[in-house]
Amino acid sequence: MKILVSNDDGYQAPGILALVKALSTIAEVTVVAPADDRSAASSSLTVGKPVRIHEAGERCYYVEGTPADCVHIAVNGLLDFRPDLVVTGVNNGSNLGDDTIYSGTVAAAMEGYLLGIPGIAMSLTHKPGKHFDTAAHVAAGLVRRLMTKPLPMPWLLNVNVPDVPEDDLAGMRVVRLGRRHQAEPVERTHHHHEPGVQVWRIGPAGKAADAGPDTDFGTIAENCVSVTPLLIDLTRYDNLRHVANWLA
Ligand code: MN
Repeated sequence: MKILVSNDDGYQAPGILALVKALSTIAEVTVVAPADDRSAASSSLTVGKPVRIHEAGERCYYVEGTPADCVHIAVNGLLDFRPDLVVTGVNNGSNLGDDTIYSGTVAAAMEGYLLGIPGIAMSLTHKPGKHFDTAAHVAAGLVRRLMTKPLPMPWLLNVNVPDVPEDDLAGMRVVRLGRRHQAEPVERTHHHHEPGVQVWRIGPAGKAADAGPDTDFGTIAENCVSVTPLLIDLTRYDNLRHVANWLA
Protein backbone atom coordinates (compact mmCIF):
# COMPACT_ATOMS: atom_id res chain seq x y z
CA MET A 1 0.00 0.00 0.00
CA LYS A 2 1.22 3.50 -0.90
CA ILE A 3 0.23 6.19 1.58
CA LEU A 4 0.49 9.95 1.10
CA VAL A 5 0.98 11.68 4.44
CA SER A 6 0.34 15.39 5.02
CA ASN A 7 -0.69 17.72 7.84
CA ASP A 8 -1.31 21.37 8.66
CA ASP A 9 1.28 21.83 11.43
CA GLY A 10 4.31 21.68 9.12
CA TYR A 11 6.49 18.81 7.90
CA GLN A 12 8.72 18.85 11.00
CA ALA A 13 5.89 18.83 13.58
CA PRO A 14 6.05 16.00 16.14
CA GLY A 15 2.65 14.64 15.07
CA ILE A 16 3.64 13.97 11.46
CA LEU A 17 7.00 12.49 12.51
CA ALA A 18 5.20 10.00 14.81
CA LEU A 19 2.69 9.20 12.06
CA VAL A 20 5.39 8.54 9.44
CA LYS A 21 7.30 6.33 11.86
CA ALA A 22 4.23 4.19 12.63
CA LEU A 23 2.93 3.93 9.05
CA SER A 24 6.35 3.17 7.53
CA THR A 25 6.36 -0.20 9.29
CA ILE A 26 3.31 -1.35 7.27
CA ALA A 27 3.27 0.69 4.03
CA GLU A 28 5.30 2.84 1.63
CA VAL A 29 4.96 6.38 2.93
CA THR A 30 5.51 9.63 1.01
CA VAL A 31 5.32 12.96 2.83
CA VAL A 32 4.11 16.13 1.13
CA ALA A 33 3.40 18.66 3.85
CA PRO A 34 3.47 22.43 4.43
CA ALA A 35 6.79 24.08 5.28
CA ASP A 36 5.33 25.59 8.43
CA ASP A 37 2.18 25.82 10.55
CA ARG A 38 -0.89 26.30 8.35
CA SER A 39 -3.52 25.31 10.92
CA ALA A 40 -7.07 26.50 10.20
CA ALA A 41 -6.26 26.88 6.50
CA SER A 42 -9.32 24.74 5.66
CA SER A 43 -9.47 23.78 1.96
CA SER A 44 -7.78 26.93 0.64
CA LEU A 45 -5.69 26.47 -2.52
CA THR A 46 -2.92 28.80 -3.68
CA VAL A 47 -4.03 30.10 -7.05
CA GLY A 48 -2.60 32.85 -9.25
CA LYS A 49 0.94 32.42 -7.98
CA PRO A 50 3.49 29.60 -8.10
CA VAL A 51 3.93 27.11 -5.26
CA ARG A 52 7.53 26.23 -4.32
CA ILE A 53 8.19 22.64 -3.31
CA HIS A 54 11.44 21.51 -1.67
CA GLU A 55 12.88 17.99 -1.64
CA ALA A 56 13.74 17.20 1.98
CA GLY A 57 14.93 13.62 1.57
CA GLU A 58 13.71 10.37 0.12
CA ARG A 59 9.94 10.51 -0.42
CA CYS A 60 9.65 13.73 1.58
CA TYR A 61 8.69 17.15 0.24
CA TYR A 62 7.80 20.37 1.99
CA VAL A 63 5.58 22.91 0.32
CA GLU A 64 5.38 26.68 0.59
CA GLY A 65 1.62 26.41 0.52
CA THR A 66 -1.51 25.12 2.23
CA PRO A 67 -2.41 21.57 3.30
CA ALA A 68 -4.85 21.31 0.36
CA ASP A 69 -2.07 22.52 -2.00
CA CYS A 70 0.11 19.65 -0.79
CA VAL A 71 -2.35 16.87 -1.58
CA HIS A 72 -3.69 18.56 -4.72
CA ILE A 73 -0.24 18.97 -6.27
CA ALA A 74 1.04 15.59 -5.02
CA VAL A 75 -1.82 13.64 -6.56
CA ASN A 76 -2.22 15.70 -9.75
CA GLY A 77 1.42 15.95 -10.81
CA LEU A 78 4.24 15.78 -8.28
CA LEU A 79 4.14 12.05 -7.55
CA ASP A 80 4.76 9.42 -10.23
CA PHE A 81 2.19 7.13 -8.61
CA ARG A 82 -1.36 7.39 -7.31
CA PRO A 83 -1.58 6.96 -3.53
CA ASP A 84 -3.96 4.28 -2.24
CA LEU A 85 -4.70 6.35 0.84
CA VAL A 86 -4.12 9.82 2.30
CA VAL A 87 -3.47 10.02 6.05
CA THR A 88 -3.09 13.46 7.66
CA GLY A 89 -1.90 14.69 11.05
CA VAL A 90 -1.37 13.81 13.73
CA ASN A 91 -2.73 17.27 14.43
CA ASN A 92 -1.59 19.14 17.51
CA GLY A 93 -5.06 19.68 18.98
CA SER A 94 -8.52 18.24 18.47
CA ASN A 95 -10.67 18.53 15.38
CA LEU A 96 -14.12 17.93 16.85
CA GLY A 97 -17.53 19.07 15.63
CA ASP A 98 -17.35 22.49 13.94
CA ASP A 99 -13.52 22.36 13.91
CA THR A 100 -13.76 20.10 10.85
CA ILE A 101 -14.91 23.13 8.80
CA TYR A 102 -11.73 25.11 9.57
CA SER A 103 -9.17 22.33 9.96
CA GLY A 104 -6.30 22.03 7.49
CA THR A 105 -5.72 18.48 8.75
CA VAL A 106 -9.24 17.46 7.74
CA ALA A 107 -8.99 19.51 4.52
CA ALA A 108 -5.82 17.72 3.39
CA ALA A 109 -7.54 14.34 3.77
CA MET A 110 -10.65 15.80 2.15
CA GLU A 111 -8.62 16.95 -0.86
CA GLY A 112 -7.64 13.32 -1.47
CA TYR A 113 -11.27 12.29 -1.04
CA LEU A 114 -12.31 14.91 -3.64
CA LEU A 115 -9.78 13.32 -6.01
CA GLY A 116 -11.22 9.84 -5.37
CA ILE A 117 -8.66 8.65 -2.80
CA PRO A 118 -9.85 7.54 0.64
CA GLY A 119 -8.57 9.52 3.61
CA ILE A 120 -8.05 9.51 7.34
CA ALA A 121 -7.55 12.74 9.34
CA MET A 122 -5.85 12.11 12.71
CA SER A 123 -5.89 14.57 15.62
CA LEU A 124 -4.64 14.46 19.19
CA THR A 125 -7.11 16.09 21.57
CA HIS A 126 -4.79 18.21 23.67
CA LYS A 127 -2.74 21.24 22.63
CA PRO A 128 0.19 21.16 23.01
CA GLY A 129 -0.11 17.41 22.59
CA LYS A 130 2.15 14.90 24.29
CA HIS A 131 1.21 11.35 23.28
CA PHE A 132 1.48 11.61 19.49
CA ASP A 133 2.68 7.98 19.45
CA THR A 134 -0.71 6.88 20.78
CA ALA A 135 -2.51 8.50 17.85
CA ALA A 136 0.10 7.24 15.37
CA HIS A 137 -0.43 3.66 16.59
CA VAL A 138 -4.21 4.09 16.29
CA ALA A 139 -3.68 5.27 12.69
CA ALA A 140 -1.50 2.24 11.92
CA GLY A 141 -4.16 -0.02 13.44
CA LEU A 142 -6.84 1.51 11.19
CA VAL A 143 -4.64 1.07 8.11
CA ARG A 144 -3.93 -2.57 9.02
CA ARG A 145 -7.67 -3.11 9.40
CA LEU A 146 -8.28 -1.57 5.97
CA MET A 147 -5.70 -3.85 4.39
CA THR A 148 -7.53 -6.97 5.57
CA LYS A 149 -11.07 -5.54 5.51
CA PRO A 150 -11.51 -2.69 2.97
CA LEU A 151 -14.33 -0.16 3.37
CA PRO A 152 -16.67 0.46 0.41
CA MET A 153 -15.34 3.47 -1.55
CA PRO A 154 -15.35 6.40 -1.31
CA TRP A 155 -14.77 7.20 2.35
CA LEU A 156 -13.22 9.81 4.62
CA LEU A 157 -12.71 9.34 8.36
CA ASN A 158 -12.16 12.01 11.00
CA VAL A 159 -10.37 10.47 13.98
CA ASN A 160 -9.67 12.12 17.36
CA VAL A 161 -7.42 10.40 19.88
CA PRO A 162 -7.25 11.28 23.59
CA ASP A 163 -3.81 12.57 24.61
CA VAL A 164 -2.98 9.66 26.93
CA PRO A 165 -0.60 6.67 26.89
CA GLU A 166 -1.96 3.96 24.58
CA ASP A 167 -2.74 1.61 27.48
CA ASP A 168 -5.06 4.24 28.98
CA LEU A 169 -7.37 4.40 25.94
CA ALA A 170 -10.83 3.13 26.88
CA GLY A 171 -11.81 1.97 23.39
CA MET A 172 -13.00 3.30 20.04
CA ARG A 173 -16.48 4.50 19.03
CA VAL A 174 -17.98 5.45 15.67
CA VAL A 175 -19.98 8.62 16.33
CA ARG A 176 -21.37 11.77 14.70
CA LEU A 177 -19.82 15.23 14.97
CA GLY A 178 -21.00 17.35 17.89
CA ARG A 179 -21.27 21.13 17.93
CA ARG A 180 -19.47 23.92 19.74
CA HIS A 181 -20.87 27.04 21.38
CA GLN A 182 -20.07 30.29 19.65
CA ALA A 183 -16.34 31.00 19.63
CA GLU A 184 -14.80 33.21 22.31
CA PRO A 185 -15.08 36.95 21.55
CA VAL A 186 -12.43 38.44 19.28
CA GLU A 187 -10.02 40.84 20.99
CA ARG A 188 -8.76 44.19 19.85
CA THR A 189 -5.10 45.02 20.52
CA HIS A 190 -4.55 48.62 21.57
CA HIS A 191 -0.74 48.58 21.58
CA HIS A 192 -0.60 49.05 17.84
CA HIS A 193 -0.45 52.64 16.63
CA GLU A 194 -0.65 53.04 12.89
CA PRO A 195 -3.10 55.54 11.42
CA GLY A 196 -6.14 53.86 9.88
CA VAL A 197 -5.21 50.34 11.05
CA GLN A 198 -6.90 48.23 13.75
CA VAL A 199 -5.44 44.99 15.07
CA TRP A 200 -7.70 42.14 16.19
CA ARG A 201 -7.01 38.63 17.37
CA ILE A 202 -9.32 35.63 16.87
CA GLY A 203 -9.65 33.75 20.16
CA PRO A 204 -10.05 30.07 20.94
CA ALA A 205 -12.92 27.92 19.66
CA GLY A 206 -16.07 27.76 21.80
CA LYS A 207 -16.69 25.06 24.41
CA ALA A 208 -18.59 21.91 23.50
CA ALA A 209 -22.37 22.42 23.25
CA ASP A 210 -23.84 19.33 21.57
CA ALA A 211 -21.59 16.82 23.29
CA GLY A 212 -23.63 13.75 24.27
CA PRO A 213 -22.25 10.21 24.27
CA ASP A 214 -23.26 9.79 20.60
CA THR A 215 -20.91 12.64 19.56
CA ASP A 216 -17.15 12.95 19.07
CA PHE A 217 -16.95 15.35 22.06
CA GLY A 218 -18.73 12.87 24.34
CA THR A 219 -16.55 10.02 23.13
CA ILE A 220 -13.28 11.84 23.79
CA ALA A 221 -14.54 12.83 27.26
CA GLU A 222 -14.67 9.11 28.09
CA ASN A 223 -11.07 8.55 26.94
CA CYS A 224 -12.24 6.73 23.79
CA VAL A 225 -11.04 7.29 20.24
CA SER A 226 -13.77 8.90 18.11
CA VAL A 227 -14.19 7.90 14.47
CA THR A 228 -16.57 9.94 12.31
CA PRO A 229 -17.20 9.19 8.63
CA LEU A 230 -17.49 12.52 6.77
CA LEU A 231 -19.05 13.69 3.52
CA ILE A 232 -18.63 16.90 1.52
CA ASP A 233 -22.06 17.46 -0.02
CA LEU A 234 -23.38 20.57 1.79
CA THR A 235 -26.81 20.38 0.14
CA ARG A 236 -29.66 20.69 2.62
CA TYR A 237 -31.89 18.08 0.99
CA ASP A 238 -34.84 18.56 3.34
CA ASN A 239 -35.00 22.23 2.28
CA LEU A 240 -34.93 21.74 -1.51
CA ARG A 241 -38.70 21.52 -1.87
CA HIS A 242 -39.35 24.32 0.64
CA VAL A 243 -37.05 26.76 -1.20
CA ALA A 244 -38.45 25.69 -4.57
CA ASN A 245 -41.97 26.44 -3.29
CA TRP A 246 -40.80 29.78 -1.91
CA LEU A 247 -39.46 30.73 -5.35
CA ALA A 248 -42.49 29.46 -7.28
MN1 MN B 1 -2.87 22.06 13.14
